[in-house]
Amino acid sequence: MRTTRHTLMACAAVSALFLAGCSSDESTTQDSDSLTIGIKFDQPGLGFKDGETYTGFDVDVAKYVADKLGYTEDQIEFVEAISANRETMLEGDQVDMIFATYSITEERDQVVDFAGPYFVAGQDLLVRADDMDITGPESLSGKNLCSVSGSTSAQRVKDTYDTGSEINLVEQPGYSECLSLLTGGQVDAVTTDDIILAGLAAEEGSGAMKVVGNPFSEERYGVGIPEGSDQCTAINEALTEMFDDGSWQEAIDAATDGTGFVPNADLNPPTLVECAA
Ligand code: GLU
Repeated sequence: MRTTRHTLMACAAVSALFLAGCSSDESTTQDSDSLTIGIKFDQPGLGFKDGETYTGFDVDVAKYVADKLGYTEDQIEFVEAISANRETMLEGDQVDMIFATYSITEERDQVVDFAGPYFVAGQDLLVRADDMDITGPESLSGKNLCSVSGSTSAQRVKDTYDTGSEINLVEQPGYSECLSLLTGGQVDAVTTDDIILAGLAAEEGSGAMKVVGNPFSEERYGVGIPEGSDQCTAINEALTEMFDDGSWQEAIDAATDGTGFVPNADLNPPTLVECAA
């Protein structure tokens, strides 16, 4: 899809220069044969890159939807979409879709469109297993807290819990960086969605970290698409099929297996929101 748009643009530029159009053959050879999908690379169980292999729930949902839209796995190109870059990547047509623990928010909805939601998580805290002090966002006073730039998680801390600057919020580009700071003792906690934290804790292993288990938001994961895209309805149809045929459950079970995390059954699978007209 992305390639088509770029091919057409390139052809238009070439025609303007040389007064010669691109033949339709050329367009089809490079044509709409790929789907560029933005995912996270550092969220085990959700979006994770291991060599040339991509795994996790977001990847499984992306592959399912792509298949329903008529793309084979070989036609998908996964690229990294860190939290702070997601809107820009969609606005700049660098990706066709984003499946990257991407919460639907009013602010983001002004500049991109969303299909879904396909999962509802809640913001929570990851701490060292022997930490008995941090029990929720109200107990972070005087603590060093890591979160990711451009995430709703960092924003909520700034807007709601750190109004008197008593929390030392450290913002990093990605979740792996936050985890390293927690492991190294430079921060006392990491905050983001519970399902992400559960995957990080499991990856870290040996019971060194724990998720506090006191969620304080509802994060509705949407499929980010460029504003005005005509794909929303088709994506929602694919998600409905995924909920109905058992594949969604299978994917979420695989994602959370061994993490101890149980998705909120009252909120999942979520009710889809109608696509913007
Ligand atoms: N779901 C939240 C967000 O979209 C936090 C996780 C993330 O950074 O991807 O900002």
